[in-house]
Amino acid sequence: MIEHTDKSILYIGLVQNEMRYSLMATVSFDPDIRFTSADTGFYYAQKLVPEFEIIETSTANTIIMKIGLPKYLKLNPGMIGTFKKQFEEEEPINAYEEIKQRNAKLNHLSTEKDEELRRSKLVNEKKTEFISIASHELKTPITVLKAYTQMAKSTKETISSNLLELLSKIDLQSNKLLTLVQQLLDISKIENGNLQYHMLNVRLNGFLTKQVAVMQHILPHHEFVTNYCDELTVLIDELRMEQVLANLLGNAGKYSDKHTRILVETEMSDNKQVTIRISDQGRGMTKETMTSIFEKFYRAKDVLKSHTGLGMGLYITSKIVTDHKGKIWVESEEGVGSSFCFTVPLAF
Ligand code: ADP
Repeated sequence: MIEHTDKSILYIGLVQNEMRYSLMATVSFDPDIRFTSADTGFYYAQKLVPEFEIIETSTANTIIMKIGLPKYLKLNPGMIGTFKKQFEEEEPINAYEEIKQRNAKLNHLSTEKDEELRRSKLVNEKKTEFISIASHELKTPITVLKAYTQMAKSTKETISSNLLELLSKIDLQSNKLLTLVQQLLDISKIENGNLQYHMLNVRLNGFLTKQVAVMQHILPHHEFVTNYCDELTVLIDELRMEQVLANLLGNAGKYSDKHTRILVETEMSDNKQVTIRISDQGRGMTKETMTSIFEKFYRAKDVLKSHTGLGMGLYITSKIVTDHKGKIWVESEEGVGSSFCFTVPLAF
């Protein structure tokens, strides 16, 4: 009707036949308007609507369409009143106007979203800047504290074994604090895109043996077992890779009981990469946790209360591995244990 005339009238409403309701639409238009086979919409409507009738008189043509409403809609006078109000109050609109109005709404929405995005980017930049400044400011006093503790521990004056033990505890806690602050700094470097690498050729087995020995010292109650393939040379940033191993071995110890085994293995993946696998006999994790484990600040629900942490380690670890053009993944079974695997490129 919109295509053919602007004089036709549409009545729309509900009709009741005993307890059955139908949605009914009546369109009246000029008697000289005739439909041809080019009016595909008309013929489709005829097929789609269950009851479709054309009444032609000398003064007007009328199309009556009816669709029965299923009983499960449970129409009652209140609902019908609401529909009626809607039909009465809503302005009749043609397709062109409707599209124009929707377009205007969409444009408005998109301007609002752009503004929202701009504001959240600004807040995010400020947050990253704050983390960077705060972690720099925290790092200096912790480093000084650590230096004084070491000086006190190595003094020539006689100190009681009790005091020496206390100093060792201060040293251990300042190391933990320093690691956390370093992780915060790394996160802000990742966000700013300036995590830098010094790639060097490193003998893998020697490097791993050293890292495992350090971790065995920190986790004396776990049994570290190694199984390496033949010695080979990899191309890595030694300090950053140390961080990866410290995180994965540390987590293996943290999320498993004392006197369980931590296995470190290497295996050639292809002639370009080697896979390093760290397996524990710990609590393992759910499938859901496995999909989110490398996200920033992610921590599994079941460890929130039992283990301290900020969920930064695996995010940084995965970034370092992928920056080395390697892959990282986890295999795990709840209550049995987890294996964290990552690949490292061979040097040529
Ligand atoms: P954090 O240990 O500080 O929470 P991570 O980023 O190192 O941060 O680890 C993120 C989460 O992954 C942990 O909170 C824990 O739920 C899970 N997770 C990591 N390593 C293991 C593991 N070896 N066994 C079981 N769960 C682990």
